[in-house]
Amino acid sequence: MSLPERTIVHMDLDSFFVSVSRLEHPGLFNKPVIVGGSSERGVVASCSYEARAYGVHSAMPIRMARRLCPDAIIIRGDYERYSHYSGVVTDIIHEQVPLYEKSSIDEFYIDLSGMDRFYGCYSFASELRQKIMKETHLPISFGLSKNKTVSKIATGEAKPNGQLKIDLGTEIPFLAPLPVRKIPGAGEKTCTLLRSMGVEKVQTLQEMPVKLMEKVLGEAGISLWKKPTASIIIRWSLTMNGSPSVRKKLLTVTPSTSFS
Ligand SMILES: [Mg+2]
Repeated sequence: MSLPERTIVHMDLDSFFVSVSRLEHPGLFNKPVIVGGSSERGVVASCSYEARAYGVHSAMPIRMARRLCPDAIIIRGDYERYSHYSGVVTDIIHEQVPLYEKSSIDEFYIDLSGMDRFYGCYSFASELRQKIMKETHLPISFGLSKNKTVSKIATGEAKPNGQLKIDLGTEIPFLAPLPVRKIPGAGEKTCTLLRSMGVEKVQTLQEMPVKLMEKVLGEAGISLWKKPTASIIIRWSLTMNGSPSVRKKLLTVTPSTSFS
């Protein structure tokens, strides 16, 4: 028996901390901006796309970011402001949709399954995105597909300030050319291991039998096998092969009432 298809939207505010800081300090627009501790031992909490162009990314030591992008403006985070704006966006989503999950301060999964009967899901998500941008002046992107993982990856591809719909049945060709590091939860170690095995793209994972992957990851180290990153890869591969039990797990969305 096949599961009914779902429509899941993943929405993610673009370089959220930087965007909030820009609202209050417009001089930061169009400049490489890094939010993070000012001490030399701090790490990058968020960075603008202008800074990313120099290779700066989240969780990178500030010292390294400074070296890559000497002109970057480094500011301290104002976590009260971030929390406030996160709440404003959450309230808008809460008002507009019946079922959603807030998965981090600036990320949401929205379940629009069944809505197509009344109104196009993509149109609905597009309008919701416009509403959020109009009311908060914060850029936000979204991905829409049949499950959370594909939608999250689609958001990543749509960024910055974009939106992307992955039509039913086109998930595998969409994912195939992407590097494995784009899989949510595939950490640096797992990706390095996969690369050492010659696995660069998702397509290679899609083509590998799960049994082989289990074997190779096991040989590479029992400890890695036990780590969630490794199991995510396995789960991912199963998802691609359409195992219903795994798909069901990925499709779970928490009712919005748990966030009220
Ligand atoms: Mg974000």
